[in-house]
Amino acid sequence: MSTQTAKAQTHESMFDAVLARLDVAAKLMNLSEDVATILRNPMKQVKVSLPIMMDNGKVQVFEGYRVVHSTILGPSKGGVRYAMDVNQDEVMALAAWMSFKCAVANLPYGGAKGGIKCDPRAMSVGELERLSRAYAKSMKDVFGVNKDIPAPDMGTSGREMAWMLDEFNKVTGEDSPGVITGKPIVVGGSLGRDAATGRGVMVNTLAALKKMNLDPKSVTAAVQGFGNVGSHAARLLHEKGIKIVAIGDHTATFYNEKGIDIKAALDFAAKNNRVLKGFTGGTEIGANDLLTCKCDVLVPAALQNVITEEIAQNIQAKLIVEGANGPTVPEADHVLNERKIIVVPDILANSGGVTVSYFEWVQNKAGYYWTENEVNTKHDEKMEIAFSHVWNNAAEFKTSMRIAAYITALQKIGQGVTLKGNY
Ligand code: NAD
Repeated sequence: MSTQTAKAQTHESMFDAVLARLDVAAKLMNLSEDVATILRNPMKQVKVSLPIMMDNGKVQVFEGYRVVHSTILGPSKGGVRYAMDVNQDEVMALAAWMSFKCAVANLPYGGAKGGIKCDPRAMSVGELERLSRAYAKSMKDVFGVNKDIPAPDMGTSGREMAWMLDEFNKVTGEDSPGVITGKPIVVGGSLGRDAATGRGVMVNTLAALKKMNLDPKSVTAAVQGFGNVGSHAARLLHEKGIKIVAIGDHTATFYNEKGIDIKAALDFAAKNNRVLKGFTGGTEIGANDLLTCKCDVLVPAALQNVITEEIAQNIQAKLIVEGANGPTVPEADHVLNERKIIVVPDILANSGGVTVSYFEWVQNKAGYYWTENEVNTKHDEKMEIAFSHVWNNAAEFKTSMRIAAYITALQKIGQGVTLKGNY
């Protein structure tokens, strides 16, 4: 693979980091300037102030965002994140990635993202419910089953989606379960959705190992993050015979060269407020040591911007499968490429979640629900096709998988723009 990468310069803005990769891909594939211009500008940006009565009797105002990046290939789709570092620029970047991700996974969707600047771990259940309802209410003209469809992301889960659905239905007077995905099963969720992003990480890892002629049973992996994506990814990779030597979350990080007992770690987290602090199945190491530890596969599945240029120089893994969105800064791309470390990029590697969200939406529209086996089979098939497209584009354009994934997305979105026309 060539060392064609995003420019080695510092990108303080996450959206600029998206554009840097877009520019590299656009140049390589000779993308029409008109298409690039459209995609450089998110279609709609909404910022709201959400006053919430806190348990202490005082009102606190939270910032909420929703950015619709594009609707060229269909209604916009994208999660809602609760975190303290949520801001306009981050949501713009995440929304653009959703447009590209849906196109790579061949889903009939555009891209969007939402978020609330808050610390969900420091809030009571009641406060979180009031905040989620206020957000859904404020988005009544943005969300819609054929318009813009949210889902869980960092800091949110089926619980928040159920509150948002209920509030949205109340304010619109509709009963439209497909307007939100990632819901609990009893209120119209899909079997397999909870584990889907981790499952996609597993399918992509196996596909890459096959191309690298590596037997999963002789491979070790380190997984950063033990939330929705990381815990399911670790469990499913472990089930495929991969030895998980390191796991970690925001509270603690562990290494065990003999392999971590993932079931024990899952049981421990389930009983300990979903965190790993206090787990005894490995030696405690520093958070960044997980990224550079001795392993064959590295799965960053927590935060963005963790693989910096410096960390990239010290990574020992041969393969990185990006469970998180944006874990690698653009400046690290060239280091990883030069070191011939294969990176299955976020817009491919974590597209399993939105793929099963799409299945949930289809099931909601049909009012007919599939078995978990049907969901998983259809998911795996779609992931394998997406992986092959990106892999083949990497070979054809002599570039990294990351730039090839952008090319794969831009080919589809570009066709959409041309066919719809009328600008
Ligand atoms: P989550 O909130 O369920 O879990 C996040 C995990 O990251 C937790 O284990 C947390 O402890 C850990 N973490 C936080 N700060 C950390 C730190 N400083 N060091 C190490 N670990 C840290 O979130 P999630 O849904 O698993 O999302 C994780 C990433 O995957 C995000 O980038 C998200 O955008 C992306 N993603 C999620 C989905 C999905 O379906 N949930 C889909 C696609 C992409």
